[in-house]
Amino acid sequence: MSEGISQPDQPVEREGDGQDLFSKFDPLIQQRHDLLSAGLTDPFSLVMEKVLSPTRAICNGRDTILLGTYNYMGMTFDPDVIEAGKDALDNFGSGTTGSRVLNGTYQGHKECEDALREFYGMDHAMVFSTGYQANLGIISTIAGKGDYVVLDIDSHASIYDGCAMGNAEIVPFKHNDIEAMEKRLKRIPEGAGKLVVLEGVYSMLGDVAPLAEMVRIAKSHGAMVLVDEAHSMGFIGENGRGVCEAAGIMDQCDFIIGTFSKSVGTVGGFCVSNHPKFEIMRLVCRPYVFTASLPPSVVATAATSIRKLMHGGNKRAHLWENSKRLHGGLKDLGFKLGTEEPQSAIVAVIMPDLEQGAAMWEALLHEGLYVNLARPPATPANMTLLRCSLCAEHSEEEVGTILGMFERAGKAVGII
Ligand code: PMP
Repeated sequence: MSEGISQPDQPVEREGDGQDLFSKFDPLIQQRHDLLSAGLTDPFSLVMEKVLSPTRAICNGRDTILLGTYNYMGMTFDPDVIEAGKDALDNFGSGTTGSRVLNGTYQGHKECEDALREFYGMDHAMVFSTGYQANLGIISTIAGKGDYVVLDIDSHASIYDGCAMGNAEIVPFKHNDIEAMEKRLKRIPEGAGKLVVLEGVYSMLGDVAPLAEMVRIAKSHGAMVLVDEAHSMGFIGENGRGVCEAAGIMDQCDFIIGTFSKSVGTVGGFCVSNHPKFEIMRLVCRPYVFTASLPPSVVATAATSIRKLMHGGNKRAHLWENSKRLHGGLKDLGFKLGTEEPQSAIVAVIMPDLEQGAAMWEALLHEGLYVNLARPPATPANMTLLRCSLCAEHSEEEVGTILGMFERAGKAVGII
């Protein structure tokens, strides 16, 4: 039988002389094979057969509550957002077929950048095709060979990849540890270029960085500062600008990176900055230049969503209520959580190991609840997590239903 792509991977011997370049994946293939042969549903192959709203979808033929999306502000089905997308599709077509620096800048891309400048109150905004590319592009372009990037060890993969692409010296420090960060900064040779990269909310445990203190220290050592606000935009801060806004340090950040794939509810990435020379990035940043720009419908939905998020105070308040209720309820049930107090829209439930984590994930799915199963290398300290991310569109009643599902599944699997 030929190896069909729908067959689950199995550790197989390969004949011939050469080194099979896939052999480095054997431990992972074996682990996945063992997990699936125990009869568990593959947690990484779930299909949303129909999406009913920001908080509900049909999965395996069943109406399922979504508690594992990054749709924090529930903008994906906003009628104004949908209408803007349809209108752009009708008037500008399905795609730009070109780079931003050639034929791929439409009126909609400029309007999207205008919306971002207004949202953040900053001078410059540059839209990328994804948030991954925004980090990759900005970090690799500003920090090159001989420069130092001081970053939290739990930083997102796109941050590490940006450092590797730029060939900068990577100096990681212990997660959210102010003293460790300062120690690393002190050791950097005099006169070297320094960039400190931080995140507002860390997505695995849902914890917030002590940005006020960290940014103050970074600046006192002459470093430039980049903050990735992927998981805080739209929700944290009085105007939803993120943890920098809540910490009162917007004016001290050289670069804020964000994404449209979370609170904004579509796809794309961006960087905003007040640096007077920022516009040169459009010519020198390879992940901006050498890829096609976002389709007109995407930038139209993003711009509409960003403008609506400026007035999302009520939604932000409701999302905080949801986060507090879920966090408190799970804690009362006896689950071990990633943070002592709710700090963001992410509530991470720590599982004893991958096997029990996968079993709990499946039990929840049978209850009609989807959460994210996260495991190493994406997670810190080898943890297996069930990551719950709340949406401003989850009703109070839904959060109550979710807690009931966790209670039944947790007891069935023997975790509580
Ligand atoms: N930064 C962080 C902190 C993220 O969590 C993510 C995506 N999960 C990204 C950047 C990349 O965003 P995008 O999905 O737009 O590529």
